[in-house]
Formats: sequence, C-alpha cells, structure tokens
Amino acid sequence: MTDPNWNGAEVIQFNYGLSRSNLWPNQSGRISFFWKGVLSCLPALRSCLSHKISTGKETFFWRDCWINGVAPMHLWPVEYSECRHTNSTIYELRHLLEEQPFIDNEFVRMCSIGVQTADSHSRDIKSWRLTGNGIFSVKSFYNLLIDGGLRCPISRFFWRNWCPRKINLFNWLVWQNRILSLENLARRRCNRLPTATCVMCNGGIETVDHLFIHCSYANLVWDYFIRILRLPQLPLSIQDLWGRWRYGLHSERRAFGDLVAKAIIWNLWIARNDCIFNANILHAQCLIVKIDRMLVSWYSSLTDGPKLKLEEDFNTVRRSLEFLGPRVKAFEETRSSEETLDPSTG
Ligand SMILES: [Zn+2]
Repeated sequence: MTDPNWNGAEVIQFNYGLSRSNLWPNQSGRISFFWKGVLSCLPALRSCLSHKISTGKETFFWRDCWINGVAPMHLWPVEYSECRHTNSTIYELRHLLEEQPFIDNEFVRMCSIGVQTADSHSRDIKSWRLTGNGIFSVKSFYNLLIDGGLRCPISRFFWRNWCPRKINLFNWLVWQNRILSLENLARRRCNRLPTATCVMCNGGIETVDHLFIHCSYANLVWDYFIRILRLPQLPLSIQDLWGRWRYGLHSERRAFGDLVAKAIIWNLWIARNDCIFNANILHAQCLIVKIDRMLVSWYSSLTDGPKLKLEEDFNTVRRSLEFLGPRVKAFEETRSSEETLDPSTG
C-alpha cells in the first residue's frame, strides 16, 4: 500500500477508500469474500511491521507497533480506551508525546524530538521483521500464517509415510483429543451407551489417556512391546507419548518407536469398537499378534534406506510373531470349537 509504483494500491483505494498508509480499514458494511480474507490477516501483518518515525504522518499513534515493536494501545490501555482519536497519526496527536504518562517513556521522548525536527518531506519507514533485509516477502508471511507463529511440536516427524495415512490421521486426532471417545461423546451429550465407562476394563472413564495408555487392557499390550522391543517405560499420557517418551528413545530408533505406538493405538481402537459394536472381546495376545503382523507388513513396503535402518528392530517383531502366532491360532481354534459346543452361544 505504501509503494507508489504499485497499481494495486489504487484499486484498493478506489474500492475500499483507504489511504495508502492505512492498515486499519473500516470493516462495517458489505465486503467481498476476498477482502474478508485479507482483513483477517491484517492483525498478524501489522504485528510484523516495525516503524522508524520521521514526521509521524504515516504511522498511527495508538495502533501501529512503533515503540520497540509494541503498539501504545497495549502499553497504555486505559488512556487508549479514553481517547476519542484512536485512528489518528502520531503527527496529529503529537501533543500527547509531551504529556504524562507518554513522556516518561524514553522511546517516546526521542520520537518527540524527531517529529519536531523532521524534514516535512521525509517519510516514516516501515520494515518487515520476518526477513533479514526488512523487505516484505509473501513466503515469510505465509510461513507465519500457516503455523500461527508457533511450530507444532510433533508435525516435523509425525506425518512420515511409513504407515497408511488413515492411521497417521487417526493418531493425530488422538493427540488432539478429537476422536469420539465415550468421554468426548458424553461431553457433546450424544453418548448412546448408559455411561462413559471404558468397555475394555470397566475401570475408569474412557478418555484418550485411559483407553490408549492407562486401561488395564492397553497395559497388557504396551507392557509386552516395551519388554521385547526395549522401549522406554509406559508413557504417562498421549501428550507424554509424543514428547518425553519418544525422546527417551535413541534418535535412530525413534522412527521405529513411532510406528509401534501408532500401530498399538490404532489396534486398541479397533478392538474397542469390536467390543462395543459386536460384543467381541479380543484376547490381548491376539491383539499383540495383529500389531506384529501390521508392523511387519509396513516394514515390507518400506524403501531400502529405512528398511536397512530398522532391520534389527523388525527382526525382533518377526521373532515375536513366529513365537506368538501359532499359540494364538491354537487358542482361537479352541475357543471357536468351545463356542460351537456351548448350547448357550448357539
Ligand atoms: Zn479401560
């Protein structure tokens, strides 16, 4: 908007009546979808601008961040709420620079002298804080907008394509506590079961932390994999799983640990649904074999690089499958024959 060679500024001025330096447009009335999107980004954009004051004619006194990167409206909120000229420039409110409480601020004192002595043709300089040269770049602003200025602590490693996307997505939703656990359903008042108690152990409310970590059924599964794969002790919560627990692993084994955790969580959810919808309680050892099989199938679809890295750990999973697989099969066969013989189930 401040670039005199940019024709777009003329279009915006014509359509929306803004002056070149005004990033505080009037939002009342009907505005287009496009302009609505632009306006929603303005608070973030303004916070990334720093101002070097000359005459103060192009900088808003209250709203621009000209005092060491902070806007006066945040430093003196009481005075701001009482001021009737909140859209005025520093030049228009220059008398305030000489008054209490503003004069007590050293930055304001220096600015006051500058405004009085500045050449009337010189301009306030705005610079962009997210780039080294102070020039605005779309890329720097886009990067700020997509992660809200705060990088997600787990996204860097979480979305690796070493397991199916639906399993990554499900684990992400668990981490965000966005799945339809009985606790979440009860909170939304749409739980069709009489209580929110965990159906796997009947020992606590079915929260994500309970179902996937603290539940005695989940404990059996976790304990087995922690023991045979030499993983860190049981995580305290889902948040702990993707933070402290994961970093408790040697850096070269973290990718493997991620896959094991994702497979456990996914299969616990399938087993829980099977219990609720089909009244079928899967024996913990059967679930362990399912997880082993899933991990082995993921390993076989990896490219050579990761395969070589994870070979040793997956050999352990294979040995577990070779040991438990036949036992679980025999157990399932015995159970199905017992069910056939039992007249109460027939
Ligand atoms: Zn439970």
